[in-house]
Amino acid sequence: MELNRQTAHELLDLLKNKKTTPEAILDSVHKQIQKSDKDVKAYVRLNQNKVDPKTANSRSVPIPIGIKDNMCILDEETTCSSRILKGFKAPYDATVIEKLKKSGAILIGNTNMDEFAMGSSTENSCYGATHNPWKLDCVPGGSSGGSAAAVAASEAIWAIGSDTGGSIRQPASFCGVVGLKPTYGRVSRYGLIAFASSLDQIGPITKDVTDSALLLNVIAGYDERDSTSVNAPVPDYRQALKNNVKGLKIGIPKEYFVQGLHPEVKNAVMAAIEALKNKGATFKKVSLPHTEYGIATYYITATSEASSNLARYDGVQYGIRELPKKTRKSPLLDMYDETRHVGFGAEVKRRIMLGTYSLSSGYYDAYYLKGLKVRTLIKNDFDKLFSEFDALIGPTSPTTAFKIGDKVNDPLSMYLSDIYTVSANLSGIPAISVPCGFSKERLPIGLQIMAKPFAEEMLFRIAYTYEQNTDWHKQSVNL
Ligand code: GLN
Repeated sequence: MELNRQTAHELLDLLKNKKTTPEAILDSVHKQIQKSDKDVKAYVRLNQNKVDPKTANSRSVPIPIGIKDNMCILDEETTCSSRILKGFKAPYDATVIEKLKKSGAILIGNTNMDEFAMGSSTENSCYGATHNPWKLDCVPGGSSGGSAAAVAASEAIWAIGSDTGGSIRQPASFCGVVGLKPTYGRVSRYGLIAFASSLDQIGPITKDVTDSALLLNVIAGYDERDSTSVNAPVPDYRQALKNNVKGLKIGIPKEYFVQGLHPEVKNAVMAAIEALKNKGATFKKVSLPHTEYGIATYYITATSEASSNLARYDGVQYGIRELPKKTRKSPLLDMYDETRHVGFGAEVKRRIMLGTYSLSSGYYDAYYLKGLKVRTLIKNDFDKLFSEFDALIGPTSPTTAFKIGDKVNDPLSMYLSDIYTVSANLSGIPAISVPCGFSKERLPIGLQIMAKPFAEEMLFRIAYTYEQNTDWHKQSVNL
């Protein structure tokens, strides 16, 4: 048995019955990384970790995990796959990292991402692109493409990602794994390097739904160091893993099945709906009328917040510092300019400019403020439906993974791959992507389920029932 191909819950059972050891699990993951990461390029950095045999038995979850390169790990380099943060070592652990360390997790390394989590393909990285394990000339999705690819290639048992507009769910869908964006405020963002603070949320990327629940158990909870984390009790999410959807009412938003949706994706999602219908859930076509404004609203909100959040990278406190050859304005201003010129990639610069524009006086009302108002309308659409429905269901992404290089020069078409995912961030609701089939080219397809705030248990229940009655999650890549 190849340990690295097992799920975390299977490994925890083996550990409990003394059929394996944390060292053996770690070893199998390292062997896989050596074998396939030269092709997949999921990791940007590996940690030198060993399992301490004295503490191994007292650890509750000694499972190797990949961490997206935007979460602070004490004394380790964290760069958001950006040149500007090269050499930055975090002076503290993010809350999620602290919780993982306490649980005994073995942090194997940092996974690749789009620079500052801006992108949908993991091509916007200063380390180069990550490749989709199912088809190496395709993207793994983004921005948590490294985490999703690592899990799909069995180079990690599970991983952590962050989702601002779809960055956990879309790569999970492209790589055939499970990705959960929890409710805004369910998981602390303390120590997550900010992209768009009102949208960012950390979540698990796993091989199956049970692992997603287990990992959320480890990372969820109130944190006084994050003023937007919510002080509400955290249930034991394993209790939500019930193979039963009888009587649940699920809405199918008609706006998620329009032009642009690839027929193979549509067919797979419709088949998934049929499977859940056979298990006793009832379905009804519904409408989220403001969906068409989602992308515009998201890109105004996200770029505005990013332009503010990224103002701190000026060569003074973090990462690199560059000086131009010739003095232009003043030594200090020149240093700011040159550091940002050299340090940021093209997409990050584009977003800083867009966001600065939306926030500037004269345009603020027309763009940013208008965006906030439309955001409320989008949220109201969901509130209305959730008073009647237990969940909503549809595709995670309109297509399967595209070829590396296909969209890099067309930012608008890249932005459209988030069309079904951004609304959950704008509304703060939880959403999960689970594998629901393959295209003719054998590229994975993802099914998205959304529920009202703090109803992660509902997502797990539906996703688990679907998983128990299908076997997409059992198909894996053999690299
Ligand atoms: N792809 C989206 C973007 O480029 C979402 C990114 C994310 O969720 N971090 O902004």
